Amino acid sequence: MATDYDAPRKTEEDLSEDSLEELKARRSDKSSGQVDEDEIEAAEGYELPGADLSGEELSVRVLPRQADEFTCTSCFLVHHRSQLAYEKDGQQVCTECAA
Ligand SMILES: [Zn+2]
Repeated sequence: MATDYDAPRKTEEDLSEDSLEELKARRSDKSSGQVDEDEIEAAEGYELPGADLSGEELSVRVLPRQADEFTCTSCFLVHHRSQLAYEKDGQQVCTECAA
């Protein structure tokens, strides 16, 4: 059939035209710069939850220490006294930081 002979050629022409249009669209996107601004705004939005997480870490440090616990002066984490590696000049260091 003659249509079978023509069909592939038309498809190739359509593909080449689509790629040209895509290239033109990409060039216009780069020149506009609007896409980059949107990405920056999205990144700034993601930073806000991170700030909240830092606040949660501070609240954890404020938690009252138990009598059998100490705050490591190196990593500032509360450990059980069994994890106290050594105490020097009132500074208590946990076994993880002393290792
Ligand atoms: Zn430590």
